[in-house]
Amino acid sequence: MDLPPFPEKRPKGRIKGTKVNKKEREGEILFDHKLHKFFIQKGDEIIGHYDTMTEAFYYKKLLMDNHWDKSVLKTNVTQRIEVNIVIDQTKEYKVQINFCPKCKSRLKIDAEECPSCGINIKEYLYNN
Ligand SMILES: [Zn+2]
Repeated sequence: MDLPPFPEKRPKGRIKGTKVNKKEREGEILFDHKLHKFFIQKGDEIIGHYDTMTEAFYYKKLLMDNHWDKSVLKTNVTQRIEVNIVIDQTKEYKVQINFCPKCKSRLKIDAEECPSCGINIKEYLYNN
């Protein structure tokens, strides 16, 4: 009789449908403390360096909308220039989101903390 494989023989890693895949699927925005710039990381790949998180978000969304085809970064050069003009780097920009990035609860405009899970939205976005 064949016994089922021991648990340690089973492939380790991600279970389908869990949030563990999220970073790989959607990439993440990180901050390079040496360069003082935000960058997009997807898997082992680092894409772009941006002065503001707003800009990094813009490009991450663009990449996500285009299935991570990096040629969109070239075809959107015009928009990129506009973004750079609009963003005044001496000011701190608010990222307005309607849903908590952690628990997906609805947020009020300009909310700093999630009323449901209590995270500080900005800190969470910086660190995740
Ligand atoms: Zn929350």
